[in-house]
Amino acid sequence: MATEKTFYLETFGCQMNAHDSEKVIGTLRQQGYRQVEAEEDAGLILYNTCSIRDKAEQKVFHRLNDYKKLLKQGKKFGVLGCVAQQEGEKIFERAPHVSLVCGSASYRNLPQMLKGLEDTLPENQPPEPRSSKLTAQSLVRITGLDDRETDECFETEFTARTNPHRGYITIIEGCDKFCAYCVVPFTRGKERSRTSDSVLAEARQMADLGYSEIQLLGQNVNSYKDSAGKRSFAELRAAVGEVPGIKRVRFTTSHPRDFGRDIIDTIDAVATLCDHVHLPVQSGSDRVLNAMQRLYTREQYLERIAWMKSAKRDISITSDIIVGFPGETEEDFAETLSLLDEVGYDAVFTFKYSPRPNTPSLALEDAIPDQEKSRRLEVLMARQREIQITRYQRYIGETLEVMVEGRNNARAQWIGRTSQNKTLNFTAPATAAPTIGSYVPVRATGSFPNSLLGELVV
Ligand code: SAM
Ligand code: SF4
Repeated sequence: MATEKTFYLETFGCQMNAHDSEKVIGTLRQQGYRQVEAEEDAGLILYNTCSIRDKAEQKVFHRLNDYKKLLKQGKKFGVLGCVAQQEGEKIFERAPHVSLVCGSASYRNLPQMLKGLEDTLPENQPPEPRSSKLTAQSLVRITGLDDRETDECFETEFTARTNPHRGYITIIEGCDKFCAYCVVPFTRGKERSRTSDSVLAEARQMADLGYSEIQLLGQNVNSYKDSAGKRSFAELRAAVGEVPGIKRVRFTTSHPRDFGRDIIDTIDAVATLCDHVHLPVQSGSDRVLNAMQRLYTREQYLERIAWMKSAKRDISITSDIIVGFPGETEEDFAETLSLLDEVGYDAVFTFKYSPRPNTPSLALEDAIPDQEKSRRLEVLMARQREIQITRYQRYIGETLEVMVEGRNNARAQWIGRTSQNKTLNFTAPATAAPTIGSYVPVRATGSFPNSLLGELVV
């Protein structure tokens, strides 16, 4: 009797990784594998990894070392994603019990790689004495590591989306920007876009399956260039927003350099496009932006913010900021703080600079002590918290449409999300309990720095 093929998959990192995992899960299922919830129950244990900061990378190696004991039970380990792409065969030296290393640019080769792995499984091998040490079989190493030259995006009809109401569509992969601190161009290959027709076909398919919210994904989603030359990024978003059944379209992440005014004009013109833009700035200082090789100035960034503020709709603006980039002075940091005040972000994701392999900034001296980076991070977060307290109050008394995402039984509240991407927790009478995935009007009655409180408008 054939043994059942099972796998466990854990995902680290960004939304691109989360969506890649949905594609990998679909591919594995198509190959006859069943997904299980615990490592102990799986024949194949996979980690889809992130290497954006050193901490994320170390987490993966800790997990791998944690589970050495599972090896004795004949389990196989695979490392996918950015650490796989970055470290390649070196992973076998650091974690010799790993059998499969597959970078994000190689997922389309997964079926062949899985086949190769299966051929090495004990039941497909002549008998060999079992021992607690690594056997020849467990040391079989399969790699799939494309270099930056790949022109293809990983598309599959088998994507196993985890949420039945809102889902991701990758429209562009890779990055050609080479910011001085960033490992992504080395882990995700060169920039390559799908055709807008294939994106639209996927959006229609999702709408037919009952999805009402689509998030278009890319490392720099607005650098999108239709490989068939038919539609601009703004036109593609508008077309996705006009697919019957689609009520919300989001997009992330945008790069300020390629951010055109037409992106805002389409938000004004097409009601289904969400009124939220995530536009990472990284620093408020021109000196640091230049050293980071970000390709824009503070003034140019603020020009894009002005477009958003002059839109007819109230567009929520969020950002990413790095503190402690090599050479960042107190004055530079003060400029970042003043930018927070000037823009009035609704949320900011803040990071301490982390030196990464292969990146240009690795050659710069990382002279700012970790303690000082932590201090700047705290100051930044405290300032932003104050800003958010004020900004969230602007909704009180307003009625907002939310997509119902879940229920918090302990608090007897429903969890909703607004078009501006804010969590709005609300109460509803039992006689008018909403269904998950539906869109309902909610009146905001209270605010916190990161969420709103309200009641269903019956
Ligand atoms: N493409 C997007 C852009 O250009 O803004 C960013 C994508 S990156 C995956 C997500 C965020 O991670 C970045 O915006 C940056 O703030 C942060 N990040 C990237 N490399 C970093 C590093 N070496 N140290 C600290 N933060 C980093
Ligand atoms: Fe990294 Fe810069 Fe590319 Fe964003 S644009 S993914 S920060 S290299």
